[in-house]
Amino acid sequence: MKDITEFDVTGRRVLVRADLNVPLEGDVITDDGRIRASVPTIKDLAGRGARVIVVAHLGRPKGKPNPEFSLAPVAKRLGELLEAEVAFATDVVGDSAQAVVDGLQDGQVALLENLRFEPGEESKDDAARAAFAGKLAAFADLYVGDGFGAVHRKHASVYDVPGLLPHAAGTLVLAEVDVLRKLTDDAERPYVVVLGGAKVSDKLGVIGNLLTRVDRLLIGGGMAYTFLKAQGYEVGGSLLQEDQLEQVRGFLDEAAKRGVELVLPVDVLAAVEFAEDAEYEVVDATAIPADRQGLDIGPRTRELFAGKLADAGTVFWNGPMGVFEFEAFSGGTRAVAEALIGSEAFTVVGGGDSAAAVRKLGLPEDGFSHISTGGGASLEYLEGKTLPGLVALEEQK
Ligand code: ADP
Ligand code: MG
Repeated sequence: MKDITEFDVTGRRVLVRADLNVPLEGDVITDDGRIRASVPTIKDLAGRGARVIVVAHLGRPKGKPNPEFSLAPVAKRLGELLEAEVAFATDVVGDSAQAVVDGLQDGQVALLENLRFEPGEESKDDAARAAFAGKLAAFADLYVGDGFGAVHRKHASVYDVPGLLPHAAGTLVLAEVDVLRKLTDDAERPYVVVLGGAKVSDKLGVIGNLLTRVDRLLIGGGMAYTFLKAQGYEVGGSLLQEDQLEQVRGFLDEAAKRGVELVLPVDVLAAVEFAEDAEYEVVDATAIPADRQGLDIGPRTRELFAGKLADAGTVFWNGPMGVFEFEAFSGGTRAVAEALIGSEAFTVVGGGDSAAAVRKLGLPEDGFSHISTGGGASLEYLEGKTLPGLVALEEQK
């Protein structure tokens, strides 16, 4: 992969694919970690006199404009962090985008509206993606891939545009890949992966591959209930991926066969509803009442997990252990984070919400060896998959 420093960018229009997919409440950004992580590349380019056109997605608007997913609040925050004006285009490849791009002077930065407002961005149809990619590419002379959190997506701005322009990887992508390569090539053992969070169907897919690579797999968060159910336990109203029970039973067998320790919660905080102030009790993971839902791992599980992390050589953690956004259900996530901070291991946290949780809980970011901006992307990298966005950056015409 080429480095952006290899290009003379002065006076040239550079399209930067960034990952600015931040959590929002209304139009308030609740964690700006990904915006901050995108600043170094943008600043470097602007500082060298480039005309920087930033493109990014936010949430899942599914190919249609939707003000709920506008990048306008992100443009404002990006400007504050850059201490410079960021021109914002209210469309992606329309008149507003064209006018904003045409108006850029050397050293200035623009942000175009949410890429996913355009159906071509995520289309499975190569021609539809190519047509949209062509419009984006027409804005620029060079392409820089720096949206690590999206490199596992075969999307127009990630995969197709770099095929149309001279391109390089941004500093964030290079730094992320560096760390993940270390985890795949020579992870110090025991190698422990902790999985949690809510994107259960996405993440269950990675487990099969991880079982061939790790020594221990700790499962918490919303993931855990599909495992408990697969073992025949009642999980009440907890998050459940009914259609993947068979697959999960396969993982349990596979782990046993390979001698991988697969560790599940032994107790959970079972709440009467999904709410900040929900009434709850600690129950055994094997005895969740039918009218309750597990919103965090319990105190015995926190200790069990901390013990399984204590002698690790390498830890990769993706996905909160509970609904950390609610104070009452943030203890499990805090316990795992603290176990990582206290460990001598090489520790990597990946995932938008996992990284946000670390900051929200007021834990020191430098307590971890690396905090990755990508959850899905880093998991797929660790599985040994080829990531479309990285492949595209490696190929040079
Ligand atoms: P990441 O962004 O780190 O990859 P995910 O997006 O998969 O993580 O999941 C994060 C979300 O998972 C958080 O919003 C959290 O509230 C939710 N979550 C964790 N545990 C549970 C649970 N037991 N029930 C419901 N949601 C959960
Ligand atoms: Mg998430």
